[in-house]
Amino acid sequence: MSVSETATPGQISEKGAAGVRMRDVTKAFGSNVVLRDLDLDVAPGERVVIIGPSGSGKTTILRATMTLERIDSGTIEVGGRHLYHELHGNKLRPARESHIREVRSDIGMVFQHFNLFPHMTALENIMLAPIKVHGKPREAARDAGMALLEQVGLAHAANQTPGQLSGGQKQRVAIARSLACEPKVMLFDEVTSALDPELVGEVLNVLRDIAEEGRTTMMLVTHEMGFAREMADRVLMFDGGQVIESGAPADVLGNPQHDRTKAFLGAVK
Ligand code: ADP
Repeated sequence: MSVSETATPGQISEKGAAGVRMRDVTKAFGSNVVLRDLDLDVAPGERVVIIGPSGSGKTTILRATMTLERIDSGTIEVGGRHLYHELHGNKLRPARESHIREVRSDIGMVFQHFNLFPHMTALENIMLAPIKVHGKPREAARDAGMALLEQVGLAHAANQTPGQLSGGQKQRVAIARSLACEPKVMLFDEVTSALDPELVGEVLNVLRDIAEEGRTTMMLVTHEMGFAREMADRVLMFDGGQVIESGAPADVLGNPQHDRTKAFLGAVK
């Protein structure tokens, strides 16, 4: 299975996955320009892995897509809708918060550190946003939450709190929580980096399942090169807030053209 052949970048596939289109995206923290005039198209249902040295802007581009960092200039579209802008006639104007919230509701993000609510059970963590943000009835949220826990192999842990779960289990709950809002785009920021090595596999298996379902576009920052090679449609090499090399995993990881990609891959091997 690969990138949807029918849908165009920026639109939505038959299964409901949304494309992402970025143009001239720039973001600085003070004088530190972290994203530079970045152009990026991700097709609906595509699985894109972002690699690159520390500080190259990988997390920032995901956080900007999740609106956790606001971009300084440029545009981001999700499923053909502008995230940070609204169209007035044919003019783009900065979006109101309500518009940003609405477009963002199509996006889910999973973090390196799971950010689960410690006082709630696994199931309650998953039910929270569908009820509070999307107004889903409690019983429907519970049923959907249990189905998701089953999907990530944790139905038995529904009533446990995060403190009772291993790191890998916590991350699987965090992924299920993100899926509960039925995102059209999922962002994964080094979701296995904080885990003990023996727990990485169970989380990667959950990501494989999600990829196979094809209901969501996936953008992943990861250092798991074997995993990237196996499941990515495309690998992007970031450096200095720009994409310096992009292509099929076998090309970018197996036969990199850019010296910086070669140096990076040499260092992580
Ligand atoms: P990567 O994920 O590739 O390691 P990041 O996107 O996390 O890179 O960071 C890129 C640069 O932006 C780094 O120099 C980092 O220190 C800086 N940075 C990230 N977030 C902030 C912030 N909230 N405030 C100031 N600087 C930041």
